[in-house]
Amino acid sequence: MPEALCPSCGSCGFPMRAPADFAGGRIDAAYCSSCGDEAGQLRPYDEVLQVNADYLVRQQGLDPGAARELAGALLAGMPAWKHRA
Ligand SMILES: [Zn+2]
Repeated sequence: MPEALCPSCGSCGFPMRAPADFAGGRIDAAYCSSCGDEAGQLRPYDEVLQVNADYLVRQQGLDPGAARELAGALLAGMPAWKHRA
């Protein structure tokens, strides 16, 4: 698919280019494979938060507490979580 039309995850903003990047390998899924389940449905907030925090720990060497805080701030601005009570 053309780069300009590359969709990004509605939960974490991850760009989804290959089918494996999409939840359940479904290219019509609104979420990435980290944020969605096999059926393309959004996972619970705590799971998504943890996955994103783990990613920050691995990629940026943050400590787990700081990573959870940053992940929470990132998710708060995403369409999937904006209206979370
Ligand atoms: Zn995602």
